[in-house]
Parts: sequence; structure tokens; C-alpha cells
Amino acid sequence: MTDKPYEPLRPSKGPLGDLFAPVAGFGVTFSSMFRPTVTEQYPRTKTAPQRRYHGRHQLNRYADGLEKCIGCELCAWACPADAIYVEGADNAELPDGEHMSPGERYGRVYQINYLRCIFCGLCIEACPTRALTMTNDYELAGPDRAGMIYEKKDLLAPLAEGMLAAPHPMAEGTTDTEYYRGEVTAPTAEQVAWVREHRPDDPTLGAAEKVVEGDAAPPTPRRHRLRGSATKAAVATRQAAEGGHVATLPTPDVSDGRP
Ligand code: SF4
Ligand code: SF4
Repeated sequence: MTDKPYEPLRPSKGPLGDLFAPVAGFGVTFSSMFRPTVTEQYPRTKTAPQRRYHGRHQLNRYADGLEKCIGCELCAWACPADAIYVEGADNAELPDGEHMSPGERYGRVYQINYLRCIFCGLCIEACPTRALTMTNDYELAGPDRAGMIYEKKDLLAPLAEGMLAAPHPMAEGTTDTEYYRGEVTAPTAEQVAWVREHRPDDPTLGAAEKVVEGDAAPPTPRRHRLRGSATKAAVATRQAAEGGHVATLPTPDVSDGRP
């Protein structure tokens, strides 16, 4: 075996290239010194994440205000981190024919433990009614471990203008199928009348009446991109800034022994 002289695979860059080769790596550093600064001033300035970013979950509503969640627990079974706890209940057990959601069942208890959640999105794939989706909200912080368990009230989508707060009867002449198909696009006159009779002080009545009378456009359910101001963390931060203390968040029901 003969000793062959070393031949580099890359061709030589010439005498000038060889001269600056030891410091060529500094070229990246040097050129970066003249680029604009991109430091994000969070939390003073909030930057929108990418549209497909998986953030906090949201429980959606139909256009008349009824909840989409039917308490089926499929999301809880799909969750690899065991982060979701659901207890369903029968709408038939509610008084005066009122419903929380169309059909037989609704989610009476709904909790997501954000100390466990890995934001994989398997739960939203499993949901048969598109009740559960994920927003772009990334401000997930809590004052203690219990505060990181988000309850149904923390996850429910806010009522859009013109929606009628649940519970109330389903739109007359419909089944859950019409709801799933998107054929219920606003509260009906009968639903408004029912709420006026049972909850005359309901703050959503006025806007819903305008929709029924044709004085306002039908509500547009908010499905995605909840941002900032509605989050637990934002509320706690705002209260800390205004009153010098952090709010004590309600203790969730963990009586089933799950941490
Ligand atoms: S995103 Fe993944 S880990 Fe989080 S609750 Fe859904 S299924 Fe569980
Ligand atoms: S969020 Fe969807 S999958 Fe989970 S219990 Fe409700 S309807 Fe079922």
C-alpha cells in the first residue's frame, strides 16, 4: 500500500480564501450586527404566534348559544397525558325543557390539567362535534398547581354578540342533526321568549332580541384565536398591576382523586 498525498475534497479557494478561512465564521456575527433588532418586548407587546399554533383549548358554542360539548369523554380517552376529565349529564334532567347542548347529553364537568397537557391536539381530533378546538392563546400560567386545572367556565368560548346564554330549549323543530349541519344560525323567537320568561334579567336577551327582530346580524361563533384579555393569567396580571395582588383562582373539583 502506497502513501498517497492528502487531497482535500473541496477545491482550494485560492490564496486569499486560505488567508481569511480561520476567521470566516465571524462573517455571520459581523453581518448580524447590522440587522434590525428582533427582541420581543413581551409582555408589554404581545406577538401573535403562527396560525397553526396549538395553545389553550376552547369549548365552542352553536350560534344560538348552546354548547357543542355532549360530554361523550372521547377527548379524555384520546388524551395520552390523561389531562382531561369529563363528566356528562342528561339534558332531560334539566328543568322546564332547557338544554345546555343539543341532543341527549351535555358536559356537566369539564377540566383540563395544563400541568399534564403536552398540546398534541389528539383530543380535538377525537371530538365528534368540533366542540373542542385549540386557540392561539399561549398565556397559560397560574398562581399554584390547582390554578392550572382549567374548568369548563375557563374554557367555554365567550358568547358572541347576539347569542343567547344557555341553558334554554333547542331551536324548535330541530334535532341535534340540524345543529351539527350548521342549520341553526341564530337564536329563535321562541328561545328568546323562553329566556325572557325564565331569566328576565339575562344580559344576553337584548342583543338576541335584536337578531330575532332583524335589527342585528346573526352572531358569528368564535372558534379560534382567543387572545390575551380573557385568560386566567391575563386577569391575574391585570389585577396585580391594578390592585397589587394576584387573584385567588377558584379551587377546582378534584374530588375524584386525580391530581
Ligand atoms: S392536547 Fe394532547 S395532552 Fe393536551 S389535553 Fe389534548 S390530547 Fe391531552
Ligand atoms: S369536548 Fe368533544 S370529545 Fe370531549 S366530551 Fe365534549 S363532545 Fe366529547
